[in-house]
Amino acid sequence: MSEAVLRLNGVEKFYNKGLANEVHVLRGVELTLGAGEMVALVAPSGAGKSTLLHIAGLLDGPDVGDVSIGGDVLSGQSDKRRTNARRRDVGFVYQFHHLLPEFSALENIALPQMANGVAKAEAEARGRDLLTRVGVDHRADHRPAALSGGEQQRVAFCRALANSPRVMLADEPTGNLDPSTSDQVFSALVELVRGTGLSALVATHNMELAARMDRVVRLQDGVLVGA
Ligand code: ADP
Repeated sequence: MSEAVLRLNGVEKFYNKGLANEVHVLRGVELTLGAGEMVALVAPSGAGKSTLLHIAGLLDGPDVGDVSIGGDVLSGQSDKRRTNARRRDVGFVYQFHHLLPEFSALENIALPQMANGVAKAEAEARGRDLLTRVGVDHRADHRPAALSGGEQQRVAFCRALANSPRVMLADEPTGNLDPSTSDQVFSALVELVRGTGLSALVATHNMELAARMDRVVRLQDGVLVGA
């Protein structure tokens, strides 16, 4: 087994704990994501996929259990340590692109790097390389509104990878696209992840897309099956 990049150990999560409307969403989630591994997370709506991705990405903490990235246990650490680790190690992709509307595609990828101290020329060079990998380098100078839905998502994938994280967490990354666009954009995502050696956990409803990843895990009654 390759080195674990992301590990969830006995993760439990409650909402409204102790109240009449308490929900025990995660009931002991175990997951190990190896270096370069791409894993599909499949579950019906409401099963807790977003909760799991938020906890894996250190946006929220587990009530029980822990989360480690690169061998460091980060859940339970100070806000500052978790925020730093999240900025350095995790790239998020959502169903909607969340690109900044007043900046070009290239600027959307360069700005997060420059915020981390990378010089503009270097940040733009990396941005162009990422855009080339997903086939939208010819749209580098366009603002998001001038791009198609598929192009917007491709740029969002590049933005998530701008600062070379260890892991990409994606929540229905092609869920807003029509089926044929979704298929092409998903292929671009797979190539990007493979080409950069990244690890990825990708929530999807689409079983055909899920089958193209290394492994499929299902969230059932608060635990992962097939992990
Ligand atoms: P999914 O992403 O699989 O649709 P979620 O993780 O969004 O599922 O939600 C899992 C369950 O937890 C749902 O029953 C949802 O209503 C509940 N839930 C999510 N967030 C909260 C919250 N902040 N407060 C209370 N219940 C929540």
